[in-house]
Amino acid sequence: MADYKLLIDGELCEAASGDTFATYNPGKGEKIADLPKAGKEDAERAIKAARKAFDEGPWPKMSGAERAGKLREIAALINANAGVLAELESLDSGGTIRKSSLADVPGAAGAFEWFATCAETEADRVQLPPAVFPQSDNYALYEPLGVCTGVIPWNFPFIMLSWKIAPALAAGNVSVIKPASLTSITALKLAELITEAGILPPGVLQVLSGPGGTVGEELASNPMVDKVAFTGSTEVGRRIMQLASGTVKPVTLELGGKSANIVLDDADLHQASSAVLWGTFFHGGQVCESGTRALVHKKIYDEFMNMLVEKAGKLVIGDQLDFTTDLGPLVDRSQAETAERYVKLGRDEVGDPVCGGDYPAALAEGLDRQAFFQPTIFSNVPNSAKIAQEEIFGPVLCVIPFESDDEAVAIANDSIYGLAGGVQSSNLERAQAVAARMRTGTVWINDYHMISPDKPFGGYKQSGIGRELGTYGYNIYRQVKHVHVNPETSGFANHLQYSALNGDLIA
Ligand code: NAD
Repeated sequence: MADYKLLIDGELCEAASGDTFATYNPGKGEKIADLPKAGKEDAERAIKAARKAFDEGPWPKMSGAERAGKLREIAALINANAGVLAELESLDSGGTIRKSSLADVPGAAGAFEWFATCAETEADRVQLPPAVFPQSDNYALYEPLGVCTGVIPWNFPFIMLSWKIAPALAAGNVSVIKPASLTSITALKLAELITEAGILPPGVLQVLSGPGGTVGEELASNPMVDKVAFTGSTEVGRRIMQLASGTVKPVTLELGGKSANIVLDDADLHQASSAVLWGTFFHGGQVCESGTRALVHKKIYDEFMNMLVEKAGKLVIGDQLDFTTDLGPLVDRSQAETAERYVKLGRDEVGDPVCGGDYPAALAEGLDRQAFFQPTIFSNVPNSAKIAQEEIFGPVLCVIPFESDDEAVAIANDSIYGLAGGVQSSNLERAQAVAARMRTGTVWINDYHMISPDKPFGGYKQSGIGRELGTYGYNIYRQVKHVHVNPETSGFANHLQYSALNGDLIA
């Protein structure tokens, strides 16, 4: 028996096969729980239940204000259980308790609050100017899409969950969600809380823990699904797009990144080095929009590097449940091995890193050293190096020198990705001019990682399609229908009509 249950059609249940899989605390390598391993059969049942809830149930017919009320109940439930959720999130994902309690859990509640506001304030009907002839009444109706599925990654499991569920439900859709196998607990826990509180009608939300290759593929390809939203690697994003194309489903893709954080020669070096440090090593670099390429002006390069390396040496590596820890374990040993592999490649490509480059020398007893990795900085990296082009998803920073703003922009844009970036400068006008030329979905000036539910987020180029969050992130969950009304019920004012068949035209 699993310790947590799937949510299908309003019921908490085991997988049809009865199969389970274990989930671990990567910091200690200890098992936390057994989770139900959903398969294709469960995915099909979940989609069918969602279809029925959309086609026959009350949810899509409720007013935006009524749905907003339900979303706010979910936000309140998250806040009421914040401690438990934050601890589970940290245990399961390796993210620090500081991150889960100050960013993930309140961030998820904030997403439900924001999309509740959208449901109340974004119009369902917008009047349009008359079409073709002045008597006509024209308007646009905004309607839910239907069954919306979400497939999410392991790096920000709880926030990603909220980014998929909240806008879909707010707009009147029903949802089927698959969390990543490494980090499914908080999704299942939220499903349990919502079900026990009786907030949603049956079939409005389904949560399935299970493998991407079966459950994820079904959610992306099943003909009863109307939209797929995916966050994860660019490689799997391509696969999702292919699967969705079979029935021409709209897709939202939030994919990988290799973002540039540009330090101009007029930057305050203390602030800029902290922004670069935080931009890269937050959550051990397992952040899609991490500033893993720091572009630093040659004039300030040496002084900046000294400060950066000194600060990196002070980061505290340890148990993710300790509030003073800066870097917990990576999500599992294999992610630490990926960092190790890229560091080896970096040594071949550009020489030894100026700091880090290995598993930590010593850790408190009971911690699994093989799941942790030191903050690592490579200096004087050519942008063409593989370590500067490929997403590592670990605590590895490439510092790249430049000599002019034009060169910095060219280097920043020389990437297949375009998710985010930063500009550090004391001249806000100059920084904004640089930001305007960066081909990327978000730019933070004199800061980093400032994401909020009311601001659009998403990528250019191979970092994705579409934007989540903001009002844009609400409207991608709505269809728009144009209605044209000829107020004359016994004649056409449209001169394109066949007059001989339809009688006199109205002047
Ligand atoms: P991943 O692509 O391996 O997996 C993401 C999800 O897809 C998981 O739930 C997985 O089970 C599922 N999946 C795997 N194969 C599938 C298939 N064939 N069909 C359907 N679903 C399948 O990504 P990950 O390793 O979990 O997460 C890390 C990646 O996510 C990084 O590339 C990172 O940049 C990206 N990411 C992007 C954003 C963003 O907003 N742009 C945010 C977070 C993470």
